[in-house]
Amino acid sequence: MVVTRFAPSPTGYLHIGGLRTALYSYLWAKRNSGKFLLRIEDTDLKRNSIEAAQAIEEAFKWTGLSYDGEIIYQSQRFDIYKEYVEKLLSEGKAYYCYMSKEELDAMREEQIANKQRPRYNGKYRDFKGTPPVGIEPVVRIKAPLSGEIAFEDGVKGHISFKAEDILDDFIIARSDGTPTYNFTVVVDDALMGITDVIRGDDHLSNTPKQIILYEALGFKIPKFFHVPMINNPQGKKLSKRDGAMDVMEYKNMGFLSEALLNFLVRLGWSHGDQEIFSLNEMIKFFNPHNINASASSYNQQKLEWLNAHYIKNASSKRVWHEALNFGFDIKGNKNAELLADMLRERAKNIVQLVEMTKAILNEPESYEQKAVEKFVTPLSAGYLKDYLLFLKEHGESGDFENITNEFLEKNELKLKDIAQPIRIALTGSSVSPPIFEVMDVIGQKAVLSRLEKFTKFI
Ligand code: GLU
Repeated sequence: MVVTRFAPSPTGYLHIGGLRTALYSYLWAKRNSGKFLLRIEDTDLKRNSIEAAQAIEEAFKWTGLSYDGEIIYQSQRFDIYKEYVEKLLSEGKAYYCYMSKEELDAMREEQIANKQRPRYNGKYRDFKGTPPVGIEPVVRIKAPLSGEIAFEDGVKGHISFKAEDILDDFIIARSDGTPTYNFTVVVDDALMGITDVIRGDDHLSNTPKQIILYEALGFKIPKFFHVPMINNPQGKKLSKRDGAMDVMEYKNMGFLSEALLNFLVRLGWSHGDQEIFSLNEMIKFFNPHNINASASSYNQQKLEWLNAHYIKNASSKRVWHEALNFGFDIKGNKNAELLADMLRERAKNIVQLVEMTKAILNEPESYEQKAVEKFVTPLSAGYLKDYLLFLKEHGESGDFENITNEFLEKNELKLKDIAQPIRIALTGSSVSPPIFEVMDVIGQKAVLSRLEKFTKFI
């Protein structure tokens, strides 16, 4: 069985890079009818794990990703880590190191002066004497002194580290007894039965250390998939300036979660040239072996394009439900329902959809100044006044397109001579859905009163 996990360190919110890792792990587990587990890496007790977990749960809920079983909190597992540190000590695979800070610093300085790589010199590795007093020891693992640590990464291929170049008898428990990062990850991944570790390639340099620990602890080594970073369009590290970082900010900006997931699954993975994926299709096709080995690049336009696609194709009910997030209750308001349906053809996000719908639903309070300057001339203002009179006399049938054509014919005008002034009168703006559709939705009374108001204004 394939068991994957997502193991965020609590930063207070779920980052979009994190969501992509979670999505990949989730999809791979689902594709194999396996399990996807969630572990909060909150051993740094100064941070609030509950809040972080809530933020992650909220984001998972919004995106529809779900994890199996209960969330595992590392902060509740110190006893377990301690037990495994003791096991390694008793088997002689780890040892207490009593080197003082001063001694460590002096050793480092000397190594640097001799142009050597700073590393622990192994002083206590085979120490049999009486330990110095007054020092709380750390625990170090006996790392291999020579040879290679190699593994097959599912994304990057064969990876190997030379023991003597890279490795050290690194610390697995600090002098206050708390376990270090790599140690907890290995113990947990092993005890949680994780078979496939999918994570950011910023963790690649941790992997040889973790492999040493798997071997020392006698645990089976999982498969590793190190996913390249998401860069900004300039190829640099993604920052807040390039897009939102907190997943929930995308919700607040009016993105649909399926658009965000679709966007993320394609950042660094592809299936032919398919761009649109439902969650079921992602589950059917996703394979971490096909993750791109080079970094991907964040593309806001693509995300907006996907969002527009999903808004256009969502059910009306879905759109109404989303609009509720922005305090706009469409359901049951016939005009709002019609308008929202009409407008989602052109809305980039739900915020815009709500704004456009509201803008047309209510009589404009002001008129876009630039549009007025551009489209309202003495001539067109005159046409508009004539048009208003004509509508008052002939408008009862409510067939605005026909009546308008009659008016245009009678006056030897073209629609473009009055279309923009009408649009501004009805909506306050020079961009809107087709004007006859707007007229149909708001109805005769509103059409006349808006035209009336505007002709007085100009
Ligand atoms: N807690 C780590 C992070 O948030 C992930 C650890 C892992 O996936 O092995 O970057």
